[in-house]
Amino acid sequence: MAGLCEGRVAIVTGGGRGIGREYCLMLAEEGAKVVVNDLGGARDGVGADLGPADEVVNEIKAMGGEAVANGADVSDWDQAKGMIDQAVQAFGKLDVLINNAGILRDRMLVNMTEAEWDAVIKVHLKGTFAPAHHAAAYWRDRNKATGELVGGRIINTSSVSGIYGNIGQTNYGAAKMGIAGFTIIAARELRRYGVTVNAIAPGALTRLTEDLGGPITEERKRSGDPKWVAPIAVWLASEESAEVTGRMFEASGGTLAIAEGWHRGPTAEPVQDPNLLGPIVAEMMSKARKNAGMNGQDLD
Ligand code: NAD
Repeated sequence: MAGLCEGRVAIVTGGGRGIGREYCLMLAEEGAKVVVNDLGGARDGVGADLGPADEVVNEIKAMGGEAVANGADVSDWDQAKGMIDQAVQAFGKLDVLINNAGILRDRMLVNMTEAEWDAVIKVHLKGTFAPAHHAAAYWRDRNKATGELVGGRIINTSSVSGIYGNIGQTNYGAAKMGIAGFTIIAARELRRYGVTVNAIAPGALTRLTEDLGGPITEERKRSGDPKWVAPIAVWLASEESAEVTGRMFEASGGTLAIAEGWHRGPTAEPVQDPNLLGPIVAEMMSKARKNAGMNGQDLD
């Protein structure tokens, strides 16, 4: 039986470890050819090592699949372009870009340094924009040359830390919420070429989360297996998902959900005098839904 992604060519950024590694393996199991990108740095983004990407490539080859390693820093403009070019050179085309690479530098706002802010914003936001830009330009050119919808897929990585908000992560949460907005806008822009853009807010036990959330129990290991996250990424990567775009999926061992976007709540007649606003805002506040908590339901 042909796999769900038979013959498709996919790039997975940060594919050497954690969730990205699982994406690579499951894509290959479903018949995709995979460019395994990973800078191979430490959890905070320092350093570089092609080892993790190479290991995943070897695992895919051992199971009879096709894969190549790429060591680009996805937040570097030219290296991101090189990664897109490598997929086309190695496998003849590109169908899927999964922007998954990420780092953490958690700190309370009052203590956060400029470097901690800049590093996280760069890897997540520019590391989503740069590969997405180069892939989108490639798909636009293909669409112009063939006159056909290209069936491209961009799958970005957000987080409940951003869309719902988590203490100690203003840098990371801002980047992940930025990726949510980027996803919605890029989906609208690229629809005309037959490219969908969605995002996943994953939950898994990886080196990013192993020291968060208390002791590592058997239950945490079970529900934190990245195998719970990968299926929605692989389905979104397939041709079957053509009608789904601009959406945010939450995926973990405990949840598969669509996180709905901002909606306009209670409204009032605008006024030009700020002294009038007290009772008007109080009235609107009494009718407004509260922001969701970290599980998407509990109200803060
Ligand atoms: P991980 O640390 O296991 O994997 C991330 C990989 O990205 C690493 O192998 C790292 O080398 C690579 N990387 C980092 N910066 C890079 C760069 N500039 N260029 C190329 N590769 C780079 O972490 P993970 O938990 O698997 O995280 C994957 C994604 O999921 C991240 O975007 C993360 O923010 C997001 N996320 C994870 C969780 C979770 O519960 N684990 C929750 C929410 C969001």
